[in-house]
Amino acid sequence: MLEPCNFPAMCPKCKDVRYQSRYTCRSLVIRLTDGRVIEAHCVICNTSWPISPQERTDLITRVQWSATGCADSSALLAAWDAERVQLPTV
Ligand SMILES: [Zn+2]
Repeated sequence: MLEPCNFPAMCPKCKDVRYQSRYTCRSLVIRLTDGRVIEAHCVICNTSWPISPQERTDLITRVQWSATGCADSSALLAAWDAERVQLPTV
């Protein structure tokens, strides 16, 4: 099952935090490890923006936590290992 992986991102226009649900844990892992752009969206301003490097760092921790609740968490963790991603120690 592909559950969306919700994460907060601050809208650069209204400076309000919007929870993002467009990505699954798996697609977030792929984007984080490949260094691909992760876009956030604000429904109020109807605008999209790439999240900041700081937000990416926060997101790695968050996805790691969320992955434990994912149906394919073992595959996710194997993906982390394969990519040798530096995970922050919590
Ligand atoms: Zn906004």
